[in-house]
Amino acid sequence: MNEPKFDPPKGPVEPVKLGLDDSIQFQCRKGIACFNQCCQNIDIMLTPYDILRLKNRLGLSSEELIEKYTVPFEMDGHGMPGLKLKTRDDSPACQFVTDEGCSVYEDRPAACRYYALGLMSMRKKDSPTDEDSYFIVKEDHCLGHNEPRTLTVREYRQEQGVDVYDELNQEWRQIVLKKRSAGPTIGQPTERSFQLFFLASYNLDAFRRFVESDAFQQAYDVAPDLMKTLMDDEVELLTFGLRFLKQMLFDEKFIAEKPDALEKRLKSKREREARFKALEAGRQGT
Ligand code: SF4
Ligand code: SF4
Repeated sequence: MNEPKFDPPKGPVEPVKLGLDDSIQFQCRKGIACFNQCCQNIDIMLTPYDILRLKNRLGLSSEELIEKYTVPFEMDGHGMPGLKLKTRDDSPACQFVTDEGCSVYEDRPAACRYYALGLMSMRKKDSPTDEDSYFIVKEDHCLGHNEPRTLTVREYRQEQGVDVYDELNQEWRQIVLKKRSAGPTIGQPTERSFQLFFLASYNLDAFRRFVESDAFQQAYDVAPDLMKTLMDDEVELLTFGLRFLKQMLFDEKFIAEKPDALEKRLKSKREREARFKALEAGRQGT
């Protein structure tokens, strides 16, 4: 089988595909002449785990973080919601950059950790798993490429702490790729599926309330121990949310549904519709 063509994103990208054991020459350090330059004109897409880390770092709820520090964008041509880091009002600089560097450094997003590496995930035809490859992003302002230090991609990833981010974001990236590639070929995605995607991907506090709600508990069979874990552990809740999304979007069964849940949902939908019709009829009669 032919390997898919390596087609890295356009821009200042070196057209060389790198693996984990390939070496790169790069070092970013305090005191370098270009210090902070890369944070002055940002375009950073956020992942679910980025949002979790940032909201806790700043002591905000996920709603507050989304409101204050993100801007929405469409990840595809069909309305799949994405979030980017919001810039300052008066410039394209990041709100977190200070003269001393990044003020949220230990919790900076995955894209900031990767720079000046880029990550690309591809799936070979008939393969069940994605294959990651890397490439160098070489922008004129970044002098880190001239620093006399070489290390492997694997070492760079470890140094920057991207492993834990990738592990937690991998399931989400798969959902994004699958939803994107399904696109209009299986019909227009529904508004409801995008709302669920937003809730489970970005708004973890609202997703927790949803899981705690009577409506969820009447529909799904979640053991008390697991429910306690989900309420206490945000990483577990995020992982559960992404699996819930797969179940809702692609019908991949993960969470047991209560046997009469569908019937109850249909009944309550019929009752809602009947109430709405009665209300309409009342309005027209007045
Ligand atoms: S989060 Fe930190 S590293 Fe990332 S762009 Fe902002 S200041 Fe720079
Ligand atoms: S070396 Fe590159 S990544 Fe580091 S501060 Fe300079 S521009 Fe940013």
